[in-house]
Amino acid sequence: MSRAHNFSAGPAVLPLSVVEQLAAALPNFKGGGLGLMELSHRSALFDEVHRSAESRLRRILSVPDDYSVLFLQGGASLQFHMVPMNLLEAHESADFIVSGVWTKKAIVEAERSHAASPIWSGAPDFSALPETLTPSGSATYLHYATNNTIYGTQFHATPDGGGLPLVADMSSDICSRPIDVSKHAIIFAGAQKNLGPSGVTAVILSPWALEKSGGNLNPMLDYRLQVEKRGLFNTPNTFGIYALERVLSWMEDNGGIDGMAQLNQAKADALYAAIDGSEFWAGHADLSCRSQMNVAFRSPSTELDTRFVAAADAAGLMGLKGHRLVGGLRASIYNACPLASVTALVDFMGEFERTQG
Ligand code: PMP
Repeated sequence: MSRAHNFSAGPAVLPLSVVEQLAAALPNFKGGGLGLMELSHRSALFDEVHRSAESRLRRILSVPDDYSVLFLQGGASLQFHMVPMNLLEAHESADFIVSGVWTKKAIVEAERSHAASPIWSGAPDFSALPETLTPSGSATYLHYATNNTIYGTQFHATPDGGGLPLVADMSSDICSRPIDVSKHAIIFAGAQKNLGPSGVTAVILSPWALEKSGGNLNPMLDYRLQVEKRGLFNTPNTFGIYALERVLSWMEDNGGIDGMAQLNQAKADALYAAIDGSEFWAGHADLSCRSQMNVAFRSPSTELDTRFVAAADAAGLMGLKGHRLVGGLRASIYNACPLASVTALVDFMGEFERTQG
């Protein structure tokens, strides 16, 4: 069976070896007689998987020992609600760096219950990121997204929030490069780009965030209770956590965080070189903040963009249509996207330019 080159923004490509391990685990998991999706979340077999997923993520990201790690449900979108509900007292507020759609959505959720200040905005085209920030002066934390999946921008260094605790949405670049977890109060990420399938959300909490959290919340939304129960207040996504554990194992077998960073740099360099080396293609993001994960670009016309997407699809290069808010094209080249897929894309772009340009 031949697999296409997958450039989807998420759910996204998984390592083939992981997909094969998942398929093999479905009928009879580790020879225990029960299939992976038919196994109790309280069983010893699942407990081993769950603990391994946590310790692998801790190792890969060098998570400090006093931080907590959870695998929750509800996606990054539910974190837009959980973060303010847990971290803010009634009179408290949060600052936001509005670098794209996902931070705008996070503000909407915070404003349901609390005050929120957008201290910087990249509207309307969201092609840039701030060089300096001026916090509002009254916020409890600063929320930002490390990588903008739609517009293809990425912070290349942790923003300086003037000492405010940082909350980072790392949905589209977690585990793609080294980051300093200790600079953050909360890191969260939907798994469906770099960590595994959709339906699992990784959440990393500092002792300060844990201390702040809790209160009169539904237990599912209460970080403190979820940490007490190790994320097993209710039935977790057992399949998703196993898949994530396998993806993390694949990362560790492939050089860990430094191996991922090297691979991602090589892929992004190759693709941006193809864009920069031609008058035909144009990138969306400013050069200073281009994303290594989502490369947003375009041809000279929307008509050519449409033709490119159709021709690429027919040639087995899939998921290249840009997000409807930006238009154009987008190649998502997360950890599990092989260098060979990027090489195939670069060759195809060259051929398209020669024949259609
Ligand atoms: N944040 C970012 C940066 C994203 O890219 C996405 C999804 N593309 C989300 C949040 C929302 O994630 P979810 O679908 O897991 O709620």
